Amino acid sequence: MALSDHVDLNGFIEGVKRRNPGQPEFVQAVTEVAEDIFDFIQDKEQYHKYQILRRIAEPDRVISFRVVWEDDNNNIRVQRGYRVQNNNAIGPYKGGIRFHPTVTESVLKFLAFEQTFKNALTGLPMGGGKGGANFNPKGKSDHEVMRFCQSFMTELYRHVGQNIDVPAGDIGVGGREIGYMFGQYKRITNSFEGVLTGKGLEYGGSLIRTEATGYGAVYFLENMLTRVGNSVEGKRAIISGSGNVATHAAEKIVQLGGKVLTLSDSEGFIHDPEGIDQERIDWVKAHKTKRRGRIAEYADEFKSATFHAGERPWGVECDIAIPCATQNELNGREAETLVANGCIAVSEGANMPTDLEGAHVFKKAQILFAPGKAANAGGVAVSGLEMSQNSARISWKEAELQQLLKDIMSGIHERCAEHGGRAGSDHIDYVRGANIAGFKKVADAMLAYGVV
Ligand code: GLU
Repeated sequence: MALSDHVDLNGFIEGVKRRNPGQPEFVQAVTEVAEDIFDFIQDKEQYHKYQILRRIAEPDRVISFRVVWEDDNNNIRVQRGYRVQNNNAIGPYKGGIRFHPTVTESVLKFLAFEQTFKNALTGLPMGGGKGGANFNPKGKSDHEVMRFCQSFMTELYRHVGQNIDVPAGDIGVGGREIGYMFGQYKRITNSFEGVLTGKGLEYGGSLIRTEATGYGAVYFLENMLTRVGNSVEGKRAIISGSGNVATHAAEKIVQLGGKVLTLSDSEGFIHDPEGIDQERIDWVKAHKTKRRGRIAEYADEFKSATFHAGERPWGVECDIAIPCATQNELNGREAETLVANGCIAVSEGANMPTDLEGAHVFKKAQILFAPGKAANAGGVAVSGLEMSQNSARISWKEAELQQLLKDIMSGIHERCAEHGGRAGSDHIDYVRGANIAGFKKVADAMLAYGVV
């Protein structure tokens, strides 16, 4: 078949839209990858012939199930649970579980698709998957969360396993939820195995897993800055979110001599011109995890700060932006504001926080822009290290893991730089680099298997 007979980019996107009606997030994620991959595979007949991109963009399977649980007032509640197993060409399916009212099949398919590239970029043997439910843990009692997690795992257990699919946390799922789900898996199967990551240290968890996503996003940022002779030191950073990723990104920025000006949640953002230092970060961590409080209360506690209800932080002047909240939290207009305010680098701690228009603005302005699938891969990378420790039944020391995380992030940076450059320019397009490097590894494994 001549190359000209292959469907073009627009035809491909039209097909994705047609096959996935009502799934805008999934179409968006596939479009972003396809824009780069079509260019890359232009002259590579094998990838066309074996329909590799088309196959990666069709999940191996989507499992959807009913989750019934009883709340504290004895009401019977019904939620929908999912596991999307996108691709296991290079290792068992791997990816988090999200509990949030906005969870839909589209959101989880986009996340599982992204995860496939992200996991490949880490260099570790992990395929891509994602799961979750439209359950809102906010305002629920501990026992309600426990009953929900147990009911969720009572169905999920038959689809996962240490060599099959290894879920972890994501938005709304942290150490507490992983504990309840691991306990239920062990109870049903009578098997103590590394079926989940992000576990407590007492039962097979790994040191620095909690810190890894946020720290990794800043290591990646530092790698990008170092390459152009710059550094985090002395820079003003604006961060969105106030959960695990945001607080640890803030911590690493402070450790590297930067200043953090903002944090946020779904109700608004706080701006602290004095800088959110380690003591204040510790307060936020305790406030969010132990008291399960809101970020607005930061401004009551620290008088130098102001709370901006219903707003996002992207208008605050900065050198660096690290979106760590959720998908599509930074649009084209906000990206333009960041560029106009002199922002030189964006490192995505969340998954696809910048929408397609925003990403095009950053690309065009040629600022340093690290997509989530590269920048936030530190979390899943340490999950991969947790899997290795579980298999070997050992626990590595903190210093070893810290070094491994740094090395893995540098490795991802190198892989992106290798594929993200263009002849005649010194600028690295990290989006393109991440898409191509992630795709290539998965694609070559798929080619080895033939038509399956
Ligand atoms: N949810 C995280 C992510 O988006 C971590 C997944 C994992 O550790 O498996 O990459």
